[in-house]
Amino acid sequence: MLNLVLFGPPGAGKGTQSELLKKQYDLVHISTGDVFRALDENSDLAQLAKSYADKGNLVPDEITIQILESEVQKHTDINGVIYDGFPRTTDQAVALDKFLDKKDTAVTLMLSLIVPEDELKERLLERAKVSGRADDANPEIIKTRIANYNKSTAPVAEFYKNQNKLVEINGVGTIEEIFDRLIQAINAR
Ligand code: AMP
Repeated sequence: MLNLVLFGPPGAGKGTQSELLKKQYDLVHISTGDVFRALDENSDLAQLAKSYADKGNLVPDEITIQILESEVQKHTDINGVIYDGFPRTTDQAVALDKFLDKKDTAVTLMLSLIVPEDELKERLLERAKVSGRADDANPEIIKTRIANYNKSTAPVAEFYKNQNKLVEINGVGTIEEIFDRLIQAINAR
């Protein structure tokens, strides 16, 4: 199985590149952000997730891990998974390792997209015009999301670095250029 963690701050291009990687390697793409947004909006779970996401905060680990695991379980007989936006805390990374271990598999590689903060802010505001996401449109919420990334999520890279699985990818350039860098890193494994 090819299990890729596509990592990076909000606006780094994880969603865009995941869609391309999914086609290239015939993988299942799981974005926890998309899963939260697709929940029945009247459900308690959807409203709980929204109460965090709309402020730019992380949904608590316990809920997020459960959602991720049940999403993975929906797929059988697959080549692998692209994890997009998960894990976002070290506890989530530990949980993913345990979960995959029980399935006799493991994370193959973490691909970390590196993009300067000013560019992230510009990209998110641009995306807001088409995404309709409240958390993309408000500069204060964007600031909170990037601050939460730096505080809670960035340390997850260390976790995979310690397992020799971290590859940093320059996330600035055209979509095709960045995709080529990702492919090279994956094929080099
Ligand atoms: P995203 O679509 O990845 O930008 O995620 C949108 C929002 O969903 C985030 O700001 C969080 O509130 C929530 N979310 C998505 N993935 C996670 C995760 N792995 N852990 C905690 N919260 C998450």
